[in-house]
Amino acid sequence: MMRKSFNFLAVLLTVVMMCVSLSACTKTNKLEPAAGLELSKASENKTQSNEDSSSGNVAQTIPKIDTTPPQSSTPTPIVKSIGKVIVVDPGHANKANLELEANAPGSSVMKIKDGGGAIGIDTKTPEYLINMKVSLQLRDLLQKRGYTVVMTKTDNSVSLGNIQRAEIGNNEKAALVIRIHADSSENTTVSGASMLVPLPVNERTKEIIDESNRCGRKIMISLTSEVGMKDRGLAPHSDMTGFNWSKVPVILVEMGFLSNPDEDRKLSDANYQAKLARALADGIAEALK
Ligand SMILES: [Zn+2]
Repeated sequence: MMRKSFNFLAVLLTVVMMCVSLSACTKTNKLEPAAGLELSKASENKTQSNEDSSSGNVAQTIPKIDTTPPQSSTPTPIVKSIGKVIVVDPGHANKANLELEANAPGSSVMKIKDGGGAIGIDTKTPEYLINMKVSLQLRDLLQKRGYTVVMTKTDNSVSLGNIQRAEIGNNEKAALVIRIHADSSENTTVSGASMLVPLPVNERTKEIIDESNRCGRKIMISLTSEVGMKDRGLAPHSDMTGFNWSKVPVILVEMGFLSNPDEDRKLSDANYQAKLARALADGIAEALK
């Protein structure tokens, strides 16, 4: 008799302990809603932009997202969401994409999807590497400020067309799409930053040029003053596929010339890349406050 009730008590105790540990688990899962929200948004987009072939990227990045928050990210929920979506688009990929696409909706002008980007005159660093490094840091800085950031891609092997890039911004109803690039010229003495903005070539672009110009100007001021590079001003373009398909404000920053030996060396420097990302984040925050 005694033995039976002792066994019963032991079973009861085990069940109670299991319930306690189960509820503890569910609690920890609910601990970081803000971080989870933003991160799942980003991973959602990764899957979207990787719809073609590179499942490798998705498989690699998702586990990282799940494991980082638990202990170390307790301060993350303090970040207040601003409720604005910014799309960050790292230019180019590790290979050119010579497929053709219409330069604008309804246009018979066809342009290649990706020419492959520039290359450092001395360092030989390919542009896509610099674009991605700055873009990822920019994403982190903007997220810390409470923006929801969607990357068009986070994997250099993913090659996107410009219509695809524009549609990511359209689907996200982005407050701003910022396209990250570095420049190149046959003249190796040319230096400085340019901000490419759309021209009113169709109904879509007519609606976005004022806001694109306004943001472009603000971000240029912060970029050139904080980093200390020459301001080459706004450069309006009617021929860019990624602009002509956009329904949301869009700008493309050229962060200096890879054809200029001095700027080439700087662009490959991790501290300089961090400086660029900070200056861009400050400019975006100033433009979208
Ligand atoms: Zn480029």
